[in-house]
Amino acid sequence: MVPWPRRPRLVAGNWKMNKTAPEAAALARELVAAPAPAGVRLLICPPFPALTVVRPILDGHDVLLGAQNLHAEPSGAFTGEVSGPMLTAVGCHVVIVGHSERRHGMGEDDATVARKLRAALHEGLTPIVCVGETLAQREAGQTEAVLRRQVGAAFAGLDLDAARATVIAYEPVWAIGTGRVATPEQARDAHRVIRATLDEIASAGLGAQLAILYGGSVTAGNAPRLFAEAEIDGALVGGAALDAAGFLSIARAAAVGTRAR
Ligand code: PEP
Repeated sequence: MVPWPRRPRLVAGNWKMNKTAPEAAALARELVAAPAPAGVRLLICPPFPALTVVRPILDGHDVLLGAQNLHAEPSGAFTGEVSGPMLTAVGCHVVIVGHSERRHGMGEDDATVARKLRAALHEGLTPIVCVGETLAQREAGQTEAVLRRQVGAAFAGLDLDAARATVIAYEPVWAIGTGRVATPEQARDAHRVIRATLDEIASAGLGAQLAILYGGSVTAGNAPRLFAEAEIDGALVGGAALDAAGFLSIARAAAVGTRAR
């Protein structure tokens, strides 16, 4: 398990279903060739077939390796799935759980996300649990209720030490891959709801300890404004993570934000 400090600064790249193994290796080499920004942990989540190729490229560099999903069971007759033990065996430190493209595109419900969260923790992987409302839910005034439901379902009954070892990503569905970024104020309000929910359902003070990333159309252009908001501890970056220069600019903006906190 990565020993995270309280509210770590983290910039994570979710490469989604992009980059063949050789392309992923080339992007990873570009990333490690640049100096790592101080005070910010970098994480990349390539597709499964690229993990073993990217792993050795990160050796000796301060870039963590993560996966985009895992199955809740450690092994078994689950054709096409990948388990937590398989991820740790190839050197992953982190796994994304409950990304909206899996919740809404692959039918993952809150109960499935909760099981995957526990499976990740059991294997010593840091889960990044994604939560966020759809546009229809925001427009219907349901953002807070949705966040409370998703966070509640994921964390209720979770051992406190395990809960402390997680990272949350607030990813409004309407902002993912759309070019429509949440305002820092919208992200701030959502992050406060998430922290308050953690305090209520897990333990008072937990909300102040966990890192909450913002995700949804983060770019080098809008990152400085987002990271100026003290509630935002980092970013989960999709499209802009596919370009080394852009991803590193976002990380540098997070480092500037760190100094401002
Ligand atoms: C994501 O995939 O989690 C994401 C936020 O994507 P994008 O940055 O492309 O909106």
